[in-house]
Amino acid sequence: MRMLINIGFLFLISFTPIAQEKYTGPIIDMHLHAYPADANGPPPLALCVPVSNMIPHYDPKKEWMEVVIEHSTNPDCKNVVWSPKTDEELIQKTVEQLKKYNVTGVLSGTPDLLPKWLAAAPDRFIPSLKFSLPADSMSIETMTKLIKEHNIQVIGEIGNQYHGIAPDDPRMDPYWALAEKLDIPVAIHLGSGLPGATRMGYPNFRVKFSDPLLLEEVLNKYPRLRVSVMHYGEPFLDELIAMLFNYPQLYIDLGGIPWGYPNDFFYDYQLKKIVAAGFSKRIMFGSDAMNWPDLIGISIDIINEAPFLTLEQKEDIFYNNAARFLRLDER
Ligand SMILES: [Zn+2]
Repeated sequence: MRMLINIGFLFLISFTPIAQEKYTGPIIDMHLHAYPADANGPPPLALCVPVSNMIPHYDPKKEWMEVVIEHSTNPDCKNVVWSPKTDEELIQKTVEQLKKYNVTGVLSGTPDLLPKWLAAAPDRFIPSLKFSLPADSMSIETMTKLIKEHNIQVIGEIGNQYHGIAPDDPRMDPYWALAEKLDIPVAIHLGSGLPGATRMGYPNFRVKFSDPLLLEEVLNKYPRLRVSVMHYGEPFLDELIAMLFNYPQLYIDLGGIPWGYPNDFFYDYQLKKIVAAGFSKRIMFGSDAMNWPDLIGISIDIINEAPFLTLEQKEDIFYNNAARFLRLDER
């Protein structure tokens, strides 16, 4: 009898879900943007979560932009978030979310917008220099000066993919070399962009440049460079896993993907796969909330509700991995 009870007890332990214990400690968001309120079009703009089926189908006889505006002003979905109407409201609502969830965010921005955001909550933001070729091309002296003047801790988001520039494009060499020399981590966009990006002002955006394998020459040429793959090169999961395996210094952030796809897909085919492959110590939380501050809380909840993550793995994803990557103190 005693034996049976013990076996039953063991059975119960082994089949009790490990997750559902929420992480409630401090969080580092590796993926915030200091945008103006109209960065994605005239506000207020709706965003449906998940975005992958916000516009379920499209007939190209219409202009894509028109269809996007229709859906963004008159959304037809269950889970909708709205963007604040003014720059001030966007900053204020973002800071509210950061305080509510105890988040410090790496804030990607231009030198003209960063100071205003930082002033609103100096302890909640880590300044990061937004950088996209060809528009942001600058001398190394200018970049060094900007880094010093604005206390820049990360160079990113590097948005070259939106402009048809591959991760290993030689035009990036002087900037990679500078980041390595100054020991400043870099964060590069690799992965899906806005649906229909090539018809939304980014005619040169190319999906093929999402492939994390395209970072291989960069990592070999600059062996001390600390690189975060923003959006983890989604959906090139096998290529990403090969890169994480072969380049132990490589980190990723989850920015935007948790609310980009339905939870089942994000959990079962992406996050679970990266964790199962053994890389839970190199996944960093990111919201990519852009103009929709509510996406910060939504992204946190999606990670917290992942049924296969242990509390320790959540603590790593929400805080420790980013702290280690940024060389801050871990918990
Ligand atoms: Zn991005």
